Amino acid sequence: MDNGLETIRVLVVDDEQDIREGSQRILNRMGFQVLQASRGEEALALLANDRAAIVLLDLKMPGMDGMDVLKEIVTMDATILVIVITGYATVETAIQAMKHGAYDFISKPFEPDQLRIVVNRAAEKVRLATEAIQLARERQRTLSDLDAEKSRTRSILEFLPNGVVVTNTDGRVVLMNPAFLHYLGISPERATGDLIDDYLPDKELCRLVKEISQGRHVDYEDIPTHEFVLENGRYLLARGQPVLGERRECLGAVLNLVDITTMKVLDRLKSEFVAKVSHELRSPLSTIHEQLAYVLNDMIAETGQEDPKDVDKQILVRAKEKTKGLISMIGDLLDLSRIEEGIICREPRPVNPEEVLKNVVEYLNVQASAKGQRLELNIPQQPLPVLTADPLALESIFGNLITNAINYTPEGGHIRVVAETAGLNVRVTVADDGFGIDAAYIDKIFERFYRVKNDKTRFITGTGLGLPIVKGLVDSLGGFIQVESVPGEGSTFTVLLPVRATAQDSV
Ligand code: ADP
Repeated sequence: MDNGLETIRVLVVDDEQDIREGSQRILNRMGFQVLQASRGEEALALLANDRAAIVLLDLKMPGMDGMDVLKEIVTMDATILVIVITGYATVETAIQAMKHGAYDFISKPFEPDQLRIVVNRAAEKVRLATEAIQLARERQRTLSDLDAEKSRTRSILEFLPNGVVVTNTDGRVVLMNPAFLHYLGISPERATGDLIDDYLPDKELCRLVKEISQGRHVDYEDIPTHEFVLENGRYLLARGQPVLGERRECLGAVLNLVDITTMKVLDRLKSEFVAKVSHELRSPLSTIHEQLAYVLNDMIAETGQEDPKDVDKQILVRAKEKTKGLISMIGDLLDLSRIEEGIICREPRPVNPEEVLKNVVEYLNVQASAKGQRLELNIPQQPLPVLTADPLALESIFGNLITNAINYTPEGGHIRVVAETAGLNVRVTVADDGFGIDAAYIDKIFERFYRVKNDKTRFITGTGLGLPIVKGLVDSLGGFIQVESVPGEGSTFTVLLPVRATAQDSV
């Protein structure tokens, strides 16, 4: 239907000019556009070119019979509403006209109001029909938009280099892209519909996907990434997210898989390179250090005392200190390489954490006292459970944390080491009232070579490798480390070490 909602066109077909003119005046005032015809043939010719939504049709006209005109109009366009104008007491004619498809009738002579009512009724029907058609068109458009959107999304997914798999709330796979099938060596013909466990070989990851699917992860930031290796040696990194509905209800999970095999290979090559270089540098550096010490001793023996004005000696002293720093860094780098290769914790044995802590604290107390600091160790009355670990690894963890606490706490500060049993873990906290760490750096301090540089820490020497070593060791023992810190008030490092897990389990 072409009529807009505003102007509806009405054709008045009557041989009486007065009726035509009178009707046109009334209908024009009502806002309709009006056409006139004095005979049936003329009306049909007009309608063939110019469509009208409503036709007022006199049944008694010279020439073509009114009823035939009605039939022709209905055949031409069944949506045209024909209101027949009947003569006095011709109810039968009206009924007959309705049977042939007329919409309504009005008998002659009629009052303007009667005409208004009957035409308004027809106009309302025209408007409703137009509205319905527009709505249907809109719906059709939205549906085809949706369809196009769907196929666009599908194409994007098909061509994504990352593997994507989507599950419903039961953990059943509803969508997989070709990269996912390719990564996991699944046939392209494989149907969806089974549980995620039937497609992914990693149990831990399947558990995570099911948890996400059931909406158990409220804080999406906390959803851990998961790395796993396939039988063919391919390393994949998986990131999961819930799929949310309009009311933010969980509809399932989407898992994104990235192939990180090249990165892993490069990382291993880099570690091997660092290990090799460090190893090669250590011996000559140690020799230089020893020789510097030897020359310096000789100089002191000659003059009988250290003369601060002696420039040569000062240069040598500084060179000796620098080589000492380099040797310690190389030691750290070698430790890191060993941790990465899993060598350090390869031969775990039962260790009493209390003993290790006491030794480390006693050893470092000298350093703390030199800075006027109080280093305190609190061990519970009940003996701590025995851990299965490499004792050197535990020494390194506690030693690094306590050394940091001493280094990053001003003179006269207080360091408190507490060991306790926490469920199936041993928890050790090292708390200081030192400089603290700005929240922005908390995550970074575990990265290799990262050191916070500010007015307070600038002159403290270090390599930035202590905490990466601690983290590597704690990870290899299947443990967990976390930091809480307030700048200007102090820091607390907490280490949780599982009692049962052996290092081998977790390496
Ligand atoms: P290093 O001590 O050799 O610089 P680490 O890896 O042990 O390297 O520590 C990294 C950085 O973390 C340090 O440079 C320091 O800025 C910060 N840090 C570590 N422990 C503490 C602490 N107890 N208090 C304040 N800052 C700390």
